[in-house]
Amino acid sequence: MRLIDGVKDLVALYHDYKTMNKDEKADFYQAKCDYYQKYVELSLIAGCFSSIAYIISDYLLNGSYMPTLIPRFSILGFMVIFFVVTHFFRNRAVTVFMDYFLGHAMVIATIWAIYHLEVKIHASEGFIIMNLIWITIGFASKPRETIFSTLFFLFEILVTNSFNHYPNLDIIFALEIPCGLAVIMSHYLLMLFFLDHYRVKQKLEKAMVTDPLTQVYNRYLLESIVYKNTLKDTGDGQQVAMAMLDIDYFKKINDEHGHYTGDLTLLYIGQKLTEKTSEDDYVIRYGGEEFVIIFKSCDANEAYRRMEQFRKEIENSNDMPVPFTISVGVSNYNGDYSKTIQNVDAALYQAKNSGRNKVVLV
Ligand code: GH3
Ligand code: MG
Ligand code: MG
Repeated sequence: MRLIDGVKDLVALYHDYKTMNKDEKADFYQAKCDYYQKYVELSLIAGCFSSIAYIISDYLLNGSYMPTLIPRFSILGFMVIFFVVTHFFRNRAVTVFMDYFLGHAMVIATIWAIYHLEVKIHASEGFIIMNLIWITIGFASKPRETIFSTLFFLFEILVTNSFNHYPNLDIIFALEIPCGLAVIMSHYLLMLFFLDHYRVKQKLEKAMVTDPLTQVYNRYLLESIVYKNTLKDTGDGQQVAMAMLDIDYFKKINDEHGHYTGDLTLLYIGQKLTEKTSEDDYVIRYGGEEFVIIFKSCDANEAYRRMEQFRKEIENSNDMPVPFTISVGVSNYNGDYSKTIQNVDAALYQAKNSGRNKVVLV
């Protein structure tokens, strides 16, 4: 039954949410805001214009447009503030604060208009309609922020009752409190179901850059690093070095021990490379049995030293599926990807041609 499946999913998602640490939660809420903010912004604009359109219902109650003209159009001024601030401050906290700022500006404009209405009995409808805006803004915010805003909304109604004297304050609260609770509840549900989407996206993003056999990065990551030019921007004059590693006589391993053992050998070298490099470095499966290693904050001499040590460890290891050796070419990364690849390739070629089981630096 779909309802039972939904509840089971929610329990699992709630457990996942509860076990996230502070940084993960911050990243999750940032992702939620990034994903929905455009929708929220466009809906807020639509909301502002429809709140101006209530000048027509004001006319039906007052018989004139004039008394509520300024209150209704005041929302345009708040919109300008909203766009200026969100243009200059792009972090999540300010963005969400400004979403609620514009939402509550609509409340203020409505309260101001009600002040000029001869018949205030329809204030309850005006306030209940605001829940469309709270539903919308909640997409980009945290459920806790929806709770705070809902309480603030009730506070605004209560305080302004001192001069607006709503004839049906009890009805306003009787309508708004259950509605506000429903909005809060729906945003807890939305937050948990967005977590599902967030996890799927994370898995897809990881799969996109991961080699399925060796679990190191794949060529796609290398291309995107080159395309985005991220290595050039490491800053502080830090050196970057590149190495290309190739297993010696790998075809023989396949031929003599079978492709399964060949695969295990690739998995072994991938794991060893990951273990022996730092978290900042990239280990990439470049082709069949070729790997590229990008050493960040390390010059070519240091990269050579590390690869030579690695080569010796592989030569002397006894925990691999079958004994094998590696050849490696090393070069500085000078910001020109194709040139560096040509350099490490040439160095690897030299290592192969001078007897294999070697590291060559160019
Ligand atoms: P060299 O020392 O000159 O590098 O010789 P080599 O035998 O290692 O090089 P060669 O390029 O002739 O052979 C590479 C082999 O790698 C051929 C190909 O079948 C095998 N290979 C490529 N990808 C995979 C894979 O995913 N799994 C397995 N088991 N073998 C693969
Ligand atoms: Mg080889
Ligand atoms: Mg090869």
